[in-house]
This record gives sequence, C-alpha cells and structure tokens, in this order.
Amino acid sequence: MTLHTGRHFLQIPGPTNVPDQVLRAMARPTIDHRGPEFAALTRRLLAELQPVFGTTGPVVVYPASGTGAWEAALVNTLSPGDRVLCFETGHFATLWRAMAEQLGLDVDFVPGDWRHGADPARLAERLAADAGHTIKAVCVVHNETSTGVTSRIPALRRALDEAGHPALLLVDTISSLASIDYRHDAWGVDVTVAGSQKGLMLPPGLSFNAVSQKALAASRTAGLPRSFWDWRPILEANEHGAFPYTPATNLLYGLDEALAMLRAEGLPAVFARHARHARATRAAVRAWGLEVLCADEREHSGSLTAVLLPDGHDADKVREIVLERFDMSLGAGLGRLTGRIFRIGHLGHLGDLTLAGTLAGVQLGLQLAGVPVSPDGLGAALDVLREEGEGA
Ligand code: PLP
Repeated sequence: MTLHTGRHFLQIPGPTNVPDQVLRAMARPTIDHRGPEFAALTRRLLAELQPVFGTTGPVVVYPASGTGAWEAALVNTLSPGDRVLCFETGHFATLWRAMAEQLGLDVDFVPGDWRHGADPARLAERLAADAGHTIKAVCVVHNETSTGVTSRIPALRRALDEAGHPALLLVDTISSLASIDYRHDAWGVDVTVAGSQKGLMLPPGLSFNAVSQKALAASRTAGLPRSFWDWRPILEANEHGAFPYTPATNLLYGLDEALAMLRAEGLPAVFARHARHARATRAAVRAWGLEVLCADEREHSGSLTAVLLPDGHDADKVREIVLERFDMSLGAGLGRLTGRIFRIGHLGHLGDLTLAGTLAGVQLGLQLAGVPVSPDGLGAALDVLREEGEGA
C-alpha cells in the first residue's frame, strides 16, 4: 500500500467533501434537544431549508439516509395496491421501484436504456391511457447518480397538467439538490426527496421530504402503515422547534453552517458553478476520445459525469489505479454498468483547481490502465475553466 501525502480526493458523486467549517460546526458539544437553544436552531433550519428546495411549504427532516426519505415519500401518500408509475433511468430508479413493490404498491416501470432521463412523451402516453386515473403517483429520480443523466421535471409536470391527471409527482433530488436548478413549488412537485451527503456538503445521515399541500392532503387518507416516517407527529413537534424523537443534533449544526455557505454563494451561482464544472469535465472526456454516458444534450448532469470505456477495458481497473497511485476515489459503475463506466463526482464543495486535480488524476489513471486516450483531455478542461472564468 502506497503511503499517501496530502488530502484524499473524494470525487465520487456523494458523499462529497465536507468543508472544514462544517466539520468544525459539528464538533461543538451536543445540547439538550428539548431546550430553548435547540428549538431556536430547529426553527431557523426549517425556515432556511425552504429556499433550497424552492418551497414555502414544510420540509420534514429525518435522521436517516436518503433511502429512508424514499420510503417516507411513499408511505405518507399512498395506500396498499395503489398503482404508481416509475421510470427506469438507472440503478437508483430501479431500487426505488423495488422498494415500492416491497411496500405493496403496484408498480408500472417504464423501461429505459440508462442513457436517457424520464421521457415526457412516454409519460403523456401512459397518462392518456389511464382515463380512470388509476395511477396515484409518478416517481422520478431527478438526477440519476448511476448514469449522470438529469430528467426534465418541468416537462414531466407539463405532461401531467396537459393530461389533467391528478397523480402525485414524487421526485428524488438526492444528487441534485443544491447542485442543479430545482424548484419544488414552481415545478408542481408533491414530494421532494433529498439527502445530506451530496450538494448539501454534509456527511451522510440526514434526509428530507419537501411536501406540497396536495401531498399533505393525501397523507390524511393514505393507508400504508407508517410510524417513524409519519409526517404528522414530526410536523406537530416542529411547530415547537422540536422532534418526536432524538434528532441528529450535530448533523443539524453542520446543516446550519452548510446552509449559511449556500446563502453566501447564492443558489444561482451554486447551480452555475456546477454546470461549468460539468462542461469542463465533458470537454476533458471528449478530448480524451471517450464517450459520456448521457446520450441527450439536454440531460447532462451538473453534479457528475459517467465515462464509458471502450470495449475490452475495465473501468474498475482504472478506479483501482487512481485510488492506489493518487489517493482519489471515483464512482464505480453500478448494476448493469459495473466495469463499463466510472463516475466523476463534481458536486458540493468544489473549486476549479480541485476539479483540475481530479481530471489530472483521471487522465493519469486512464493512461496507466492502458486505455487509449489523447493527452489533450486535461488541457481541454482547463480551456473551459479559463475561458468561462473570465469576468465571471
Ligand atoms: N437516490 C439517489 C439518486 C442516490 O444517489 C442515492 C444514493 O446515492 C439514493 C437514492 C439512496 O440514498 P442513501 O444511500 O443515502 O440511502
């Protein structure tokens, strides 16, 4: 094992690098979660989370990973046997579908090739064929972390509106919130699912549901069993700055600091930074002579890029070399993409030189693994960073 110096490069698409000031905030002593200081913190956090989701409605916070917030979205709004429409955009959409089936929902899974987002035209077709409104919810992963493809939520919303269909729209933003433009209210989303460990720059352990009035109304009659995930006791306790269980106090300190950082930068600047880093990364991939997995120019992810290797080359070998030689973690291909792609995470706490260092490490790893690539990739990324940085 090589002895590494300097900082580890954590360039997987989440968990992401946690800023030092967030780590320091979390190192403060834990306080009484029933005391006045904690109540003030809770009230501030719940208010300050709203603009990050683009909502004026409630945001429910769970001490759980993103998977918990997936379950919460389903069990709070649906009843056993309800029909839900899910889109096969990749590995995470497939996992969410499996969860829905395990919970006793009747899932209609629209097949996909893992290179495109959820297709609004296919949604329109399915809705048109459902005159009896048997579909109770449409589940979409906004940014498929396994593929680097971002679905176009406003176009999907339009399909629902044009069909006059009352299905709820449930959207997973686990790898897009606070990285890629997202608007819960303006886009008519009913439940937004999010997690702490990506754009929010926190360790794993918190997850979220932003909830529309329509979803709240559905929760009053939803019949799936729920207890820990139930929005009602949480929203009631939140009124008093509390939770119905012991909250993850120190993660909430970190959230307070991360939200302050996002406010200081401003969400439009945060989105623009991610989009620019994604463009620089794609420029590198193409100049290397490799293919970006995402096959639609409108759907490139701002938070990660999946790189397809030529036949006969093992993407996991490249990752292994990059980790061993350069102390950098890259994302693996998941599910059916295992060994065929690797994923470069460029979300969260990231500057131009961190991205440049990341792409330098990828280029070296590709060369050492014997993948035939042009040495021009890194330069192509630097050209984007230099040109687009001017006057910015
Ligand atoms: N959905 C997406 C898009 C994800 O990227 C992930 C995890 O990476 C999940 C769901 C599952 O979240 P967690 O691993 O935090 O439970």
